[in-house]
Amino acid sequence: MLTVGIDVGGTSVRAGVVDARGAVLDTTRAPTPTGAQALEDAIVHAVEELAGRHDVAAVGLAVAGFVTADRRSVRFAPHLAWRGVPVADRVSARLGLPVVLEHDANAAALAEYRFGAARGAHVAVLVALGTGIGGALLVDGRVFRGAHGVAPELGHLRLVPDGRPCPCGKRGCWERYCSGTALAATAVELLAEYPAASTVLGREAAGDPRAVTGRRVAGAARDGDPLAQRAMTDLARWLGEGLALVADVYDPEVVVIGGGVSESAPLFLDDARQHYASVVTGAGHRPLARIRTAQLGDDAGIVGAAALARDVAMDVVRNGRPR
Ligand SMILES: [Zn+2]
Repeated sequence: MLTVGIDVGGTSVRAGVVDARGAVLDTTRAPTPTGAQALEDAIVHAVEELAGRHDVAAVGLAVAGFVTADRRSVRFAPHLAWRGVPVADRVSARLGLPVVLEHDANAAALAEYRFGAARGAHVAVLVALGTGIGGALLVDGRVFRGAHGVAPELGHLRLVPDGRPCPCGKRGCWERYCSGTALAATAVELLAEYPAASTVLGREAAGDPRAVTGRRVAGAARDGDPLAQRAMTDLARWLGEGLALVADVYDPEVVVIGGGVSESAPLFLDDARQHYASVVTGAGHRPLARIRTAQLGDDAGIVGAAALARDVAMDVVRNGRPR
């Protein structure tokens, strides 16, 4: 049985046909439209295209936003047009296939649990380092979403009282110090300490800090740029600091570090592990969580959503109706 997983992000709608072992067999993508109806159309068209080439049984959508506990509706998504829209029922009615929704971080965590870095972990946490921090908690492979479906908002744990301002309205949130955005912000702060011509980043920025992106900082750190390496060391420290909080609350068996920044894990993960191990409560007298890099990369949302779609399709086969 094959299912379709779709990663519905703020920039693009990426869809894939996925098999029982989590392998992505075929893909298609389109830019994310701005209107709610156009977005629904884009999803329907993506599935129709893939279903023209493969026999697919169900569809899963990984959405960058809040999804209701019954996984049928999107409450709110900051970068998508949907506000309180019963997306699953609408798409299902048009395609004649079962459709299930999940928050994208939860879908990625499920993919890592079933096929990747968190395989079989009793308590697993996903920390996705991208523009901000996406977080997910799985207990025995089940998503923990809190009483109102918004847990865990790991990126907005406050690590620094009166720290850097965050778009959420608070200050000092973890993601302001530990994300692609944070990496760039730290590098820009450090520019003041280095003569502009003495570093790769200084020359590139040449008075325009907007030229400094997380990706560029990571690239410069890889090339040995001292300023970029300091920014990376700073990120590693904040990652370790935040992971110690996460461990105090959840005591996970595995923490999976995903998101675009995780592609640079060799530059920061060992430092982060060391810092985590030194500041976690009871350091030296407790088992430590294994901190691992995500294995499924960009496809995690697609693979996780497709796996959930498979569960729903299997339910239909067994019971004649979805859960
Ligand atoms: Zn915040």
